Amino acid sequence: MPSAAILPSWSQQPGLETPAFVYDERLIEGKLAVLRQGTQGSGLKVLYSIKALPFRPLLELVRPWVEGFSVSSLFEARLAAEVLAGRGDLHLTSPGLRLEDAAELAEPGLRIGFNSLGQWQRLHPLLRGRASCGLRINPEISFLDDARYDPCRPHSKLGVPLSQVAALGDARPQGVQGIHFHTVFQARDFAPLRQTVARIEAALGDWLAGLQWINLGGGYTWDTPEDLAGLVEVAQGLRRRWDVEVLFEPGKAVVGEAGCLAARVLDVFDSGGKTVAVLDTSVNHNPEVFEYQRRPALLNEAPGGVHNVILAGGTCLAGDVFGEYRLAGPPRPGDLMVFANVGAYSLIKANRFNGHNLPSIYALDGDGCLQPRKGYGYEDYRRQWSA
Ligand SMILES: *Cc1c(COP(=O)(O)O)cnc(C)c1O
Repeated sequence: MPSAAILPSWSQQPGLETPAFVYDERLIEGKLAVLRQGTQGSGLKVLYSIKALPFRPLLELVRPWVEGFSVSSLFEARLAAEVLAGRGDLHLTSPGLRLEDAAELAEPGLRIGFNSLGQWQRLHPLLRGRASCGLRINPEISFLDDARYDPCRPHSKLGVPLSQVAALGDARPQGVQGIHFHTVFQARDFAPLRQTVARIEAALGDWLAGLQWINLGGGYTWDTPEDLAGLVEVAQGLRRRWDVEVLFEPGKAVVGEAGCLAARVLDVFDSGGKTVAVLDTSVNHNPEVFEYQRRPALLNEAPGGVHNVILAGGTCLAGDVFGEYRLAGPPRPGDLMVFANVGAYSLIKANRFNGHNLPSIYALDGDGCLQPRKGYGYEDYRRQWSA
């Protein structure tokens, strides 16, 4: 099989059931170790934003490396709290927090960044005493060209506009213990963070001295400890000037590169002069491929390959296509195809459209061995769709 050499050795391990979501525990711990090394001594607290991939064994793996988790709902809060078992920080922010959810929230170490002044007025009385309450702020400074990801886009629903908070002056809500912001996506350096903090400090000034915490959000990625110098500088500056706790809550950076989606070719045929290979997965196992028309990286791809192939999902949707790829050899039924860097926001969004099963979940353990962690079957499908 010409493409086999390009694939990692785990893909040859017997018993791999496809479609398979495989996450590499060493890569995840490696990312967190670099983060720890690069931010050591800065006093920065790290939380893992679980919405990227809330698989419980992974939360257990991440737990020793972080101060806690950040969450976006009651269910995420409950799952994270079970893993934290009473010890750790739990940060919640959501534009969609329901009154009845807020009434139920009672996890230890809970902090909430209310998304609007209305949310503050309605929910703060319920949560005061059970959580450290703050505001999510929209710093109104955009760093993203694509408004679909930009929390600072015009008329944003995410956070109280900074100019509003500034204009309130003495009429600001009493008892605000922290502020939270999150404004970028896949940023590779911390210049946006520096600019954002400067803007917030210019607008709010000494009011910040009354806070206990500032949550810098996530959305940044790093490879080496040196990459984190900008983050450390911001965190140390904030702590020095305002005597606050500073938090950082990455999601995708922790798990994105650690996850693969492995699928087998079911069928190969010519369509209008191009080769189409149908896989036993679909864009429904990585919905952002369709949502944002992304073409995920494929480990099989051979840049100099002469065999072009359209990799398509196995559902009835015409647009269920991953993209066109170059392979070293012609694809054949049974071949394994492995999409890379799909650890974040893929499995969590996966669904069973067309009655196709969800991927089996495997961990690549510290020895590089494939460990089956979870599989789904007809019973799960039936339970979901039975009344
Ligand atoms: C999604 C989210 C994060 C994590 O973002 P990544 O891009 O996955 O690092 C952090 N904070 C908030 C408020 C978020 O909504």
